Amino acid sequence: MITAYHRPKTLDEALELLTQPNTLPLGGGTLLSQPQTDSVQAVDLQLLGLDSLKTKGNDYEIGATCTLQSLLESKDCPEALRIAIRLEAPINIRNSATAAGTLIAGDGRSTFLTALLALDAKIDIRKSKADSRISNIGEFLPLRPNGLITSITIPLNTKFAFEFVSKTPADTPIVCAALSQWNSGRTRLALGGYGKTPLLAMDGTEAEGIDTAARNAYHEATDEWASAEYRMDVAATLAARCLERLNVKTF
Ligand SMILES: Cc1cc2nc3c(=O)[nH]c(=O)nc-3n(C[C@H](O)[C@H](O)[C@H](O)COP(=O)(O)OP(=O)(O)OC[C@H]3O[C@@H](n4cnc5c(N)ncnc54)[C@H](O)[C@@H]3O)c2cc1C
Repeated sequence: MITAYHRPKTLDEALELLTQPNTLPLGGGTLLSQPQTDSVQAVDLQLLGLDSLKTKGNDYEIGATCTLQSLLESKDCPEALRIAIRLEAPINIRNSATAAGTLIAGDGRSTFLTALLALDAKIDIRKSKADSRISNIGEFLPLRPNGLITSITIPLNTKFAFEFVSKTPADTPIVCAALSQWNSGRTRLALGGYGKTPLLAMDGTEAEGIDTAARNAYHEATDEWASAEYRMDVAATLAARCLERLNVKTF
């Protein structure tokens, strides 16, 4: 239950409020405002101006409170990332849910997180005025450290593909694969559809061995939705499809 609500006007004020116990940032509130047994104070971020989308050279800086829908509709959003965002949540949720809130709340089935992991997103996270750091998403996801996320940065100079298998076209995927490839040949494959967080299956200097990497990553991925054997096969097929897409056209 939210027992106190704050709406700071500055980042410093928000950071100060967040030093209090049981106090959490409020993004779109689609999850935080659900009934819960714990008492929390909410620090609403909406007046902090963290909802911008900025192209900075080869990077795209996504403000923490930017909604999933505004990111999806933005001019520079990579096409394959749009597919991942559409699958993350239906439009009513996308209109409220923020990029940072989704980053904190999403599990291994999150298509948005899978895409960000493949893109090697950088997370700007602040604990206080004096403590600000940039974290790689690969380090960030397993720990989800406390702090206020102010932005998420993704590269625009990669080729990027996203493929998935689900029961229906709009359903949360049972397996999804996101693949980024840099001009240098660096190839990064992330898999989603299982567990607490998406998995980084490969980050190599080239694409060779991608199918084996995809299979290996999901060798224990059994749950109520699918067996590990099924996921291993599908992951290898989706990784190969992503690679084909990158070779055919640039997203
Ligand atoms: C009825 C309903 C139930 C749902 N249940 C779940 C569920 O159980 N699990 C799940 O993963 N998704 C659930 N969702 C999906 C949820 O809406 C998404 O995860 C959504 O993307 C969260 O984004 P938000 O901006 O609304 O986050 P919020 O609800 O505002 O916050 C979610 C979490 O992120 C933190 N947070 C928000 N912004 C920041 C920031 N800038 N820096 C640091 N931390 C921040 C909050 O403190 C909170 O812990 C549910 C949605 C609905 C409508």
